[in-house]
Amino acid sequence: MTTLALDTGKAVRIATIASHSSLQILKGAKDEGLGTVLICKKERAKTYERYGHLADKTILVDEFSDILDQKVQDELISENSVIVPHGSFVEYVGAKQIESRLNVPMFGNKRMFDWESDRTLQKKWLSEAGVRMPREFTKDDADGLCIVKLPGAKGGKGYFVVKGKDELKGLYMEGMTIQEYVVGATVYPHYFYSPLTGETELMSVDKRYETNADGLSRTGGGSQVEPTYVVCGNMPIVLRESLLPRVFEMGDRVVEASRKLFSPGIVGPFCIETVCTDSLEFVVFEVSARIVAGTNLYIDGSPYTALKYGESMSTGRRIAREIKNAVSSGRIEMLVS
Ligand code: ADP
Repeated sequence: MTTLALDTGKAVRIATIASHSSLQILKGAKDEGLGTVLICKKERAKTYERYGHLADKTILVDEFSDILDQKVQDELISENSVIVPHGSFVEYVGAKQIESRLNVPMFGNKRMFDWESDRTLQKKWLSEAGVRMPREFTKDDADGLCIVKLPGAKGGKGYFVVKGKDELKGLYMEGMTIQEYVVGATVYPHYFYSPLTGETELMSVDKRYETNADGLSRTGGGSQVEPTYVVCGNMPIVLRESLLPRVFEMGDRVVEASRKLFSPGIVGPFCIETVCTDSLEFVVFEVSARIVAGTNLYIDGSPYTALKYGESMSTGRRIAREIKNAVSSGRIEMLVS
């Protein structure tokens, strides 16, 4: 990790692109007294102007990928910015492009992009962490209820459910992942790993509101409609307190494994996507190694951050605080790449 173009003698600004969790990130920076820069697509400018007080400076672009243009990068560097990545940043700018062309310091470890986006590497990571995962099948041995995932699908788009290999005939295409469909409640704990303190904090928990999987129960079971898993929003969850030890253990294990596999490992926010079964076991089907949109529920803090901080601590604000603490203790190189 390196400080690259950052001048630690000057005030650091938080920069992000106008999508996903950018408003939370900007507000968090403001709450911590840091300056902010928003990179906004022209067509969205009107919407973001409504929250104009959160951005000290707005850079308008035609496409988010224009953030890689030298002129935009120079401007961000002259503002002494640290870019905070989020899901849309990775999606619109592209992991490979960020790794090879972004010179503006980015909060987090660029090495983790590969581990996050490649299903095989994710599996290696989760196995190293020793967490329970759904069984995986080939098209010839698929057994019982299975969820079939398209390669590179975003937001669960195009996923479908089949019962065994016979139902899969004619539907299977090269590159699809066939997983045991784990029956239970989906639970997405949001964590924050602080390289400065070495602690993995539980920030909040959500579940996704998915169409039409979440609408099917309204048909009273008389429907033949296939479930789909397109995310349209997020809902808050507070966990049974007796589940907390397992949730913390899972977070610690995922961080430890990341440090082993792609040093320095996870930096800052991440989310473990799980199904909690009726034996109260968490089965992990994915990790997101960045701020997730479900944290937008908790811009004013969550029950867990209320317990820990006693003030409104969102994930966006926690990122800003980590950066602020790192600058003041001369350790910013631990956080940016
Ligand atoms: P994305 O890659 O878009 O994040 P996910 O892998 O999170 O997609 O899956 C989308 C949705 O599909 C989840 O929110 C969950 O409802 C459902 N899902 C995914 N994997 C499983 C599984 N193994 N068993 C049961 N449901 C699953």
